[in-house]
Parts: sequence; C-alpha cells; structure tokens
Amino acid sequence: MAGDTGGAAFGLTSTQAAERLAEVGPNQLAERKPVSRWVILARQFTSPLIVMLIVAAGIAAALGETVDAVAIVLVVLLNGLLGFVQEWRTETALAALRNMLATEARVVRDGAQVMIDTRQIVPGDLVILDSGDKVPADLVLTSGMRLKVDESILTGESVPVDKHTGDEDVPLYMGSNVVAGVVRATGPRTEFGHIAELTASIDVGETHLQAQLARLARLLGGMALGLAGLVLAAGLMSGRDLHEMFLTSIALAVAMVPEGLPAVVTITLALGASAMLRRQSLVRRLQAVETLGAATVICTDKTGTLTENAMTVTRIWTPGRSYDVTGTGYDPAGHIAAEGGRVRAADDPRLAELIDVGLSCNHAELGHREAGWHMVGDPTEGALVTLGFKGWAELPNPADRLAEIPFDAERKRMSVVMRRGGALVQMVKGAPEMVLDVCTRVQGAGGDPEPLTPARRAEIEGVAAEMASNGRRLLGLAMRRVEDPLAGEEGLVFLGLVGMIDPPRAEVKQAVGLCRRAGIRVVMITGDAPLTGAAIAREIGLQVDRMLIGDDLDRLSEEDLHEVLKGNVHFARTAPAHKMRLVGALQQSGNLVAMTGDGVNDAPALRQADIGIAMGHRGTDVAKDASDLVLLDDNFATIVGAVEEGRRQFSNIQRFVRYLLSSNAGEVLAIVANLFLGGPLIFLATQILWMNLVTDGVTAVALGMEKPAPDQMDQPPVPGDHPILDLPGLMMIACFGLYTGGVSLWLFYSHLGQGEDLARTMAFAGIVVFEKASVFAFRSFRLPMSRIGYLSNRPLLLAFAVTMAMQVAAIYWPPLQHLLHTVPLSGEQLGLLGALALPLLLVPELVKYARRSRARGLSVAAR
Ligand code: ATP
Repeated sequence: MAGDTGGAAFGLTSTQAAERLAEVGPNQLAERKPVSRWVILARQFTSPLIVMLIVAAGIAAALGETVDAVAIVLVVLLNGLLGFVQEWRTETALAALRNMLATEARVVRDGAQVMIDTRQIVPGDLVILDSGDKVPADLVLTSGMRLKVDESILTGESVPVDKHTGDEDVPLYMGSNVVAGVVRATGPRTEFGHIAELTASIDVGETHLQAQLARLARLLGGMALGLAGLVLAAGLMSGRDLHEMFLTSIALAVAMVPEGLPAVVTITLALGASAMLRRQSLVRRLQAVETLGAATVICTDKTGTLTENAMTVTRIWTPGRSYDVTGTGYDPAGHIAAEGGRVRAADDPRLAELIDVGLSCNHAELGHREAGWHMVGDPTEGALVTLGFKGWAELPNPADRLAEIPFDAERKRMSVVMRRGGALVQMVKGAPEMVLDVCTRVQGAGGDPEPLTPARRAEIEGVAAEMASNGRRLLGLAMRRVEDPLAGEEGLVFLGLVGMIDPPRAEVKQAVGLCRRAGIRVVMITGDAPLTGAAIAREIGLQVDRMLIGDDLDRLSEEDLHEVLKGNVHFARTAPAHKMRLVGALQQSGNLVAMTGDGVNDAPALRQADIGIAMGHRGTDVAKDASDLVLLDDNFATIVGAVEEGRRQFSNIQRFVRYLLSSNAGEVLAIVANLFLGGPLIFLATQILWMNLVTDGVTAVALGMEKPAPDQMDQPPVPGDHPILDLPGLMMIACFGLYTGGVSLWLFYSHLGQGEDLARTMAFAGIVVFEKASVFAFRSFRLPMSRIGYLSNRPLLLAFAVTMAMQVAAIYWPPLQHLLHTVPLSGEQLGLLGALALPLLLVPELVKYARRSRARGLSVAAR
C-alpha cells in the first residue's frame, strides 16, 4: 500500500473511503477472543468449597439422606448460577467499555476536516494530528513540516528522531507521536499491528480491594475448616451420630464462609462502574472507584476542567492602541472597537499584522451548521479564527505554511514560517513572557520596530498583568522576516497581546464547595498565567493564599515545598514535569492524590498519582492509557460525583461484609457453644443451609444498594489503607453475633422440655428473625434510621419482606416443614420471638442517638 496515497492534497471522498473500508476492513488490531460462556460456567464449580459441598452431597445421598443431598445440590447450583450471571455481565460490560475507549482522529474527507472513529480510517486518508495524538495508522508525511517523532515504542530508541518531508517517503508508524500524513496501512497490517501480534495481552492484576477480600475469604475458609474439624471431633467424642455430625460440620463450614462475598462485591463494583458511566466517568480499573472515595487531594488543570474551554477574545493591545471585542463564543457576530468606533483589519495595519499571525499559527477550523457555529481544533486557536472574522481579515492560505514548530505545554508557544509574496515570514504566538523571550524588538506606535529594552518589556508585562487580573487568558504575538524556513525562534518583533475569556463551568463552584465539606483539598495546577489562574480560582470559590509559578517551584527545596503545600497554594505557568514533583511531594506527606491531565507529558504524573484522571474529549490517547478514570465530559464536577460514588461503594461493601459476618458469627457461636454444653443438635444441616440461602445473597445485595448517607460528603476521607473489616466493624459483629447466637441458644434450652423439634424450631426461627431485624442497624454506622430515611432503601425492605415470608413458610408449610424438620409455632411463641428481636431494632438506634447528642453536646461546649 506504500505507493497508494491517492488524494494526498485533499484527502479521500466518502465514497472512496467506504470502498476501501469494505476492501481492507476496519483499522483495528485483532481483538482478544472473548471467554466462552461454557468456560465461565465450568469455572463456577471448581472452587474448593464447592467441591467440598459436592462431595458432601454425594455422601449424604449414599447415606440415604436425599433431602440433604438435594438441598446441598441446590445451594451449589444457585451459587454457580449467581457467579455465572455476574461474570458474564462483567465480561460484556468490559467489552462495552473497550468499545467506548475507541478514539477519534482528524482526517480530511470530501475536502473538509472531520473527526472520525479511528477504526474507519483507510489507506489514502489524509490525517491531521496535534502534538501528543497517537498516530492512528502507518502514515507517509506529505506537508512541509518539521517534526520530532518519538518512535521509542517501535525502536526502543528514546531520543526523538527528526523528520523532514524532504526525505523521500518518510514513514511514520502507528503508535508514534506526530503531526500529519497520508495513511499507507491500517489495522493489523501496520508496524504496530505486527508488534501487537507478538505481544501477549497484558494481564490486569488483582485489585487492592479484591486482594483484601480474598485474604479475608482465605482466613475465614481456614477458620471454617478448622472449626468444622473441631466440631466433628467434639461431636463424635460426645457419642453423636456419625453422618449427622459429618453433615453438620460441613454445613457449619459452609455457613461460616460467605462464599457469595466475592460475587456480591463484584456485582456492587460493576453496578458502581455503570452508575459512574451514567455520571460521565469511565472506570478503567475497578479499584480506582474504591481509591477515589479516599482521595484527600484533587490536583486539577484549569482550562476545560474548571472552565468551559470556550474561548472568546475580548481585548487586544498593540503598542499605542487598545481594542475591545464584542460577541461571544465562536459565532463571528461581533466587531472590534477602539476609541468608541468599529475597526477593520484593513484600516489598521498593526491590528492586521497581529490578526494575521493569529490566523497563520493556527489549525482550527470554523464551520456553520443548523445547530450554529462549531469549531474543530484547539479552542485558543478557534477564538483567533473568530477574531479574524470579526476584524474582516483575510484568511491565510495553508499551502503557504512551510514549516512549523508545534505548540507544547513545555515551551508554551508555537511558530510557523509562511510564504508572503516573495518573502518568508516567521510568526510566533504563545504565552506573552515566552514570546517576549525570543523578541529583541517591539512594534513602535509609529510603525517601525524599536528595541525591546527592559523598560519596554516591563511596560508590556504591566499591560499583560492588567489584562489577566480578571481571569483573561493571554497570548503574545510576534513576527520577523527570515531566509530559511527552518530558522530558529529568535530576534522577533513583538506585535501585541490578545486577551480571551474562558468562563468557569457553572457547576464547578458547587463541586468545589462539596470538596471543602468532604475534607478534600483542591489544588489548581495550570499552564496559564498566575493572575489568570488566581482570578478563576477565586471565582469558583477556592481559597488562594499563594500562587506559585513553575520557576518558583524549581527553586524550592523538598522541605520548603512540603511547608508550602500545607497552605492554600495553587500553581501557574507549570510544565508537565512539575505535576510529577507535586504528586510525589503530596504523597510523601500522606495524601492520596487524584490528578487530572490531558497531554502526553502528563502521562507519568497520571501513573504516579493514586488516581490518574484523563480527559475524554481533550485528552490524548497516551494520557488516557495512563489513567485509571476517564472523564467523558472533561468536567471537574464529574470528578466530585465519582468521589461520591467511590465513597458510597466502599461503605456498602463494608456494610454487607459486616452484616454477613455477624450473621455467620451468631450461627457458629450457637452451634459451637451447644456442642460444648452437650445438648442435642441445635440446628440441622438443612436448617443451616436454609439460613445460608435466606440470610446471605439477597439481603447482602440489597444492603449493597444503600444510597449514600446524607452526610457522606461531610465526612473526611477514609484513609486509603483502612481495612474493610475494621475495629468498629469487628465490635459490631461481636455484639450482634453474641446476641443472636446467645438468645437462640437460650430459646433452644428453655423449650427443650417441650420436645426437641419445638426447641430446634424456636432456635431456628429465632436466629433468622434476629438476623433480619439486625440488618437495619448495618445500614449506617453512625446515623439513626430517622436521618437516613426508614424507606430509603426499598430493595432492602423487599428483601426483608421476602425472606420473612419464606421463614413463615418454613414453619407452616408442610413441604418445608418436612424438609427442615420444623413444627408450627403458637402465636405466643411468635410474639416471644418478635419481642426478642425488638432490641436488635431499637438498641442500635438508641446508641446512635445517644452518640450523636453527646457529640453535639461536646461541640456546643467547645464553642
Ligand atoms: P491547564 O493546564 O490548566 O489546562 P492551560 O491549558 O491553560 O492550562 P497550556 O495549554 O499549557 O495551559 O497553556 C499555557 C499557555 O500557553 C497559555 O496561557 C497560552 O498563553 C499559551 N497557549 C495555549 N494554547 C496555545 C496555542 N495553541 N498556541 C500558542 N500558545 C498557546
């Protein structure tokens, strides 16, 4: 395909593109084969616990205990089904996420620039790339640009390679970072495709949360096996029936291990990830959700994240004249005014030159559709195109552009060399001080350039400071004649300043307020000018005690930086490398840092941060690849929404882990204590399996759907290493376990005189009712139900009603009576169970009330 670069100058037509797409197929690498559903199903029956259950069912059947055998098989099947459904859902969700990550590229089709899905790119397409974009296919350079291409991904050579189009057939391989060219190969036929073929797909390791849960499960599994052995031995020593004891001890082990836990956790995380997607954030690693809830600092860019990234030029300054510009957005309706009158470029040569530089150092395109004016490209450049229209300026011919040194966040300026008549002109635009650095002269009010003395520079910087003080973003513009298109940026003539506004996003102020309440610090790290940054920061409600620029940061020692970071400090005129240093310093002082980024150079900081957040629209692929979370709308408020979701998920996982373990603790306590007391069996194997079915699963999943606590964002972040099962959790488990287990044991012994079956039914019905009653206490660790709302978790109420109805059936419905060896209970006996369950509902509420009023009392006393 190397020679097939048809349409190099104008790109392809849509018909040509469609034909070629049909011929060569989409531009994508072969996808990993999805796991077959049979493999997923088979996997569900391989865990040691399940194998143990299957063996137990076999033994029960051999011993003639068909009911037990069927019950166990039922548990195994149900568990397998739950696991299968979950894993299948996750697989399909992951596939959907992979599709969502598909990127777009700018190509020329039918003579106009359009953004298309990179998979639609075909050989012959003319692709336009900005600094940092991933090259979406193998390209051959066409336009006369001077580029630095980092091919390290292909060659292992980390020094950027100089590429000139003068060289014959300069190839650019997919994956390297560049500027423009015609596609010569797509998809698997690219160099990258060949490498990808050789590279095994990267295995995503276990997440921190999963590891922590797996550890917990292993611990409980070990304890359960040990305990089951102990119970078996103790039972046998006290002369009990062998097969009854065998089944009981296995069922006990099963009851103790919350084997549904990993599935319930994954369900909760996957539900959380889709909830986040609805809130515009794409979770690339599941653990990011959990970590994000614990973030203590969010380091954020300004442009586009805190602000709209919709630039409008409102002021222009040239030596000797100031201009105001009317109109908003990219709509060219509006005009340039000076001294009260309208000005056109043709009437004012200084202004005309300045606008010409703005339009020449530019890749943005403006178009008009039914929906209004729209812009493709960098908003800063789009604003200059609109300005050109408002000043009735002549649009330069892109074919006159002979060389370019692209904009990058490090240098903060860009330059081009244009052909103007018979001469060559170098034009530069960028951050004013960066442009002044390469200027030696300034355009005089009279027309001729004058030397740029320190006094003149100070004067220009004074004007810039005044223009930036209300949040305007500034550009300085300069030009000079050159002989060589590849001439360096030096000795330029400074032409003037352009100031543009970029309003803060409407919802950001509220989000910043929410962060303050939630104990999360927001640090602005912007490439923009300090005055611009400070003005925007104040506007959105950030406290600004100090504004440091990148150069200040370079001069600070580590200790001084730690000291500085204690205050409300924000950073301006930073280069991407500064982000790395700031993340490191913040982490060293014990922070969990979320960091936003969009450029290629941001990637290291995104990786280094605890949660790297890339921008979905503005972000380069490199930044997205390095991130944990992608903001589909680039919006700061979305990060705060994701933090809320992360906190909710962590609390919910904690809720059901505590609940499940407290139920298990009660059961185990009653069984073990009874064995040592020497009484007849308190629970039969089938009853324990029933409890496992009734209590686990449904109720736990419902508890995982708890809404965020109303004061969730009024709490400081939970420390990142905080275990799922913490001390308050263990205490809760111990208290509830002791009550449910102890009272069931008492019920059993106090009714033993009326027959074993009745006593066992009382204990069995009792413990289930107690577990159901206690679930409400686990809805919140701090807040009484009156605060979180009695009816606010409907799934839980439903789960409560369903499981209670099942328990009633277990006692009164003959088939279940037969299965579970129960006898009907009298109204009085039911009343007793209800009365004993009441403390589980009331006491936790009273304790929470008492704690809250004491805390309130203390805070009043402190005042
Ligand atoms: P943030 O990091 O908050 O998003 P930013 O996007 O404003 O900040 P940069 O894009 O690094 O930061 O821009 C820094 C400065 O570079 C701007 O203040 C502006 O003066 C200049 N600049 C921005 N875009 C361009 C461009 N396309 N061409 C030339 N100069 C630019």
